[in-house]
Amino acid sequence: MNQTLQVLKQYWGYDSLRPLQGEAISAVLEGRDSVVVLPTGGGKSLCYQVPALQKAGTAVVVSPLISLMKDQVDTLRDCGVPAAFVNSTSSADERRQIAHDARAGRLKLLYLSPERLMTDRMLEFLRGITVSFMAVDEAHCISDWGHDFRPEYRMLGRLKSLFPGVSVHALTATATPRVREDIARELHLTDPRILVGSFDRPNLVYRVQRRTDRLQQILDVLQSKREESGIIYCIRRNDVDELCAALNREGYRAAPYHAGMSDIARARNQEAFLKDRVRIIVATVAFGMGIDKSDVRFVIHAGAPKSIEHYQQESGRGGRDGLEAECWLFYTAGDFQSWRKLQADLPTEAYEIALQMLSGIERFCTAGTCRHRALVEHFGQDYAQPNCQACDACLSELDELPDSLVIAQKILSSVVRQGENFGAEYTAQVLVGATEQRILANGHDRLKTYGLLKGTARKGIREWIEQLVSQGFLERRGEYNVLGVTAAGRRLLKGELEPRLLRPATEKKTSLATTVSWEGVDRELFETLRGWRREVAERRQVPPFVIFSDATLRDLARTRPSTLDGLSKVQGVGTVKREEYGSALLALISKHCAERDLPQDLELDRRSEVPPERSLQSATGSKPSEAKTLAFQLFTRGTSVAQVAQQTNRALSTCWQYLSEFVQLNGITELGAWLDETTYQKIRAAAAECGRDKLRPIHEKLQEQVDFSLIRLALTRLNIEEPLAATPATAAPPTGALTPA
Ligand code: ADP
Ligand code: ZN
Repeated sequence: MNQTLQVLKQYWGYDSLRPLQGEAISAVLEGRDSVVVLPTGGGKSLCYQVPALQKAGTAVVVSPLISLMKDQVDTLRDCGVPAAFVNSTSSADERRQIAHDARAGRLKLLYLSPERLMTDRMLEFLRGITVSFMAVDEAHCISDWGHDFRPEYRMLGRLKSLFPGVSVHALTATATPRVREDIARELHLTDPRILVGSFDRPNLVYRVQRRTDRLQQILDVLQSKREESGIIYCIRRNDVDELCAALNREGYRAAPYHAGMSDIARARNQEAFLKDRVRIIVATVAFGMGIDKSDVRFVIHAGAPKSIEHYQQESGRGGRDGLEAECWLFYTAGDFQSWRKLQADLPTEAYEIALQMLSGIERFCTAGTCRHRALVEHFGQDYAQPNCQACDACLSELDELPDSLVIAQKILSSVVRQGENFGAEYTAQVLVGATEQRILANGHDRLKTYGLLKGTARKGIREWIEQLVSQGFLERRGEYNVLGVTAAGRRLLKGELEPRLLRPATEKKTSLATTVSWEGVDRELFETLRGWRREVAERRQVPPFVIFSDATLRDLARTRPSTLDGLSKVQGVGTVKREEYGSALLALISKHCAERDLPQDLELDRRSEVPPERSLQSATGSKPSEAKTLAFQLFTRGTSVAQVAQQTNRALSTCWQYLSEFVQLNGITELGAWLDETTYQKIRAAAAECGRDKLRPIHEKLQEQVDFSLIRLALTRLNIEEPLAATPATAAPPTGALTPA
């Protein structure tokens, strides 16, 4: 393990491993076959790159795309790792050099496409050198059930017999057990170690909204992001072209990407995006595989994706450097209809699968419950936190209606009176009392429910209908998707069951992730460093993130090191990079500081004790800051939140958040002056009735007398003292539960 960490530090400048990387690396070192499933951005590459340096010989890496190989090899070489790829673009000279290096044992990683690897010539060559192990990247391409089946991957099934004694390691971000089994079977792995990581991406902030005005909604998001990179996904090529043109008119540097463009045009736009020459890529699903740009700060879906798997993949391209990224999804019911049509040509069985996947994402969009939880649970994992602090539902951006039940009853009763024979739009029209010809012709203007929700926006009613569908009170039936009331819906009509209807709130709150990771960062210096990075990248013909990630630049702009020694304590500065760029960086930083009379080497003397990357994981998934560290120190002494706010120069609400984190991290249940016992018991009683998922119902239950901060803090304690049982529906209430008899 020590040697592994040493390699990690020396070549990549990282201090610690991410979850499961250690296990994955051990499997390679032991020569035991493995299947590693980590979400996009989870750090799969290091799982084979690090042990490749520790083992004798050359590791063969199978990768599906040329662009992917090139980026990986560029990045590796930049870290000082001898790596190469062979593909159709390689010249005869390059090939000779590679063969020579491999025979001499100097080449540590060789990237190949599956079809190139399986040529007789290549197999012959590989048998003549020492192959340390084989890694199959994007291994889900071997499965029909992956979303990206590639027939040439099937040929890899021969590897185990062609190279007996050489271990094979498969890596993928596709999580379903079915795909995992396919991979192990098709590759003929021997007793593989199966490692499945957590699918949560705490640094992504998810927001899902109904689409009302596509351009305007997107512009609203982009407003605060003039200088940041992002991806916008559309369903159709036409949408891509239109939207891209509109954004350019608005002054954004955006480029299109879809399968209708020539290969050359696509490659050019992708390259421009990777090298920060354009900020925004507007694309169809065709874009993305192999895009390992780490500083994508937002991913917008201008239309619904076609499955949760796709959503996870596509949104997952944001924030791969571990810093926060925003994921916005704008959808309408029509999007799902479009996908049904677009996929109608699929063979029957595949079409059935596609429909199932579509209804999954439809439920996700309309449910209005914690998005992190919904995604994680979709992939068969448990989500422990009651509130993620990083989605629209948990940030209380979606407000629950106080009279949900009454409104739902009105909607359902209209559906019943209409004879369960009409769609959502029609139902909404009846409820607002529209004078459409069709309604009059059907005599539905004489229904008791006609105009019952007059004065409410029709699109609001449409939203509630979607929520009622996703909560199982209504369902769509038949070819025309007419609405019908389910058994649960009938109970709702009798008042036996309660729905949760939401309205989008007007005020927006910033998430914890957003407030924290920029803390202490000298923004001006950050911009200077970014400009420098762009120049270097341009000169060296590599994408900027290959030089340094955003995380590293922020850390540099936070700590402002003055010496080479100090530099090596910055996250992401390894030996090679320090030698290569160290003096340039130090000069830049010193000049910046001298001109402004700023102190340097902040925080660095404490660095060896607290490696930033490690605390980053153990806390909330966001980067720790000076303010937070100080706040935690003060909390240890029981300092009041007001005083902490004063000393850290942070908002009171931020410090309350810190306190909740501190309490959770340390498992504290004695809250002393921060939260008195009486208030705690009140909140606990309310939570027993309203559940622990949301703060608002508890707040209302307590006549809005108790502050949200206190409720959050109390719930944190409650979750430590009385963790919820695994199956809350059937579990007995905790002893002494305060539910009314
Ligand atoms: P994946 O292939 O799983 O999508 P990558 O291997 O591209 O993810 O890693 C995503 C980013 O995280 C890269 O910028 C990588 O350098 C960084 N990274 C990976 N492992 C670590 C680690 N242990 N510490 C810090 N950064 C890491
Ligand atoms: Zn949430």
